[in-house]
Amino acid sequence: MPRSEAQTNADRILAFLEQNPYPYCDDCISKLCGVSPRNQVNGICNLKIRDKLVSQGDICHTCNRDKLTRQLKENAKPRKEKVLSKEEILAERYYHSIKIGGYDFRFLQELRPETGKNGKFIIERPQDGSKYEGVKGYNRYGNQDFCVLNVQEGLPAKPYVYALTDGDRTLYIGEIINLNERFGVNGYKKINARKCISDGQPTNCKINALILKHYQDGKKIYFYACPIDEKKLDDTERELIKKENPPWNGKIDGDNSRV
Ligand SMILES: [Zn+2]
Repeated sequence: MPRSEAQTNADRILAFLEQNPYPYCDDCISKLCGVSPRNQVNGICNLKIRDKLVSQGDICHTCNRDKLTRQLKENAKPRKEKVLSKEEILAERYYHSIKIGGYDFRFLQELRPETGKNGKFIIERPQDGSKYEGVKGYNRYGNQDFCVLNVQEGLPAKPYVYALTDGDRTLYIGEIINLNERFGVNGYKKINARKCISDGQPTNCKINALILKHYQDGKKIYFYACPIDEKKLDDTERELIKKENPPWNGKIDGDNSRV
């Protein structure tokens, strides 16, 4: 009788899962318990003995495939599936060392404009109405919107070649004898009126404003750095710019600021 046979098959499956406290897929249960066709295993597990089982996606103990598996409730542990946060997914992609032009660059941070309480980027225009305005004129990059960058504290006060990327392309390569200074309030982090004037600091203005524009376009900037002996800074930077041809590089006349 089909009914008693099904009962027998259900008992067989239960007995098998009792002796084998692992997850098994229906195909493997079918073969291992001699219950066929496979659809019958499926039916029994979904209906008849459903309450005794944990049915979940897992790695089958026999075929090692990631499938719907069955296991007795008393034997099953919830599957440990690591759910990555958005930040961790980003970390998987970018937050590690990368090679740029054959050099190892360490990931330091995403370089993001700070936002105000309204969630919008804080825009600063220190050049407007400053005591310098109209006296000396602005440098080429001195009269635009600027941001405040979320630069981490305690960057090394040492010589580095650094790189800004959007995750795919190297956008900018620079060298500096004191990385902490270059990215701090005297450098890229914040723009003041003095930096905006003709003999100010056009590079700081340029990079700060470019990062802001980049974020306003919905893109991101990742900041990497590679420690380099001070004597080799210039040569290494030149070598890397030649190799990478970053779009944000380009000589700025008259800017000799080292910060
Ligand atoms: Zn299997």
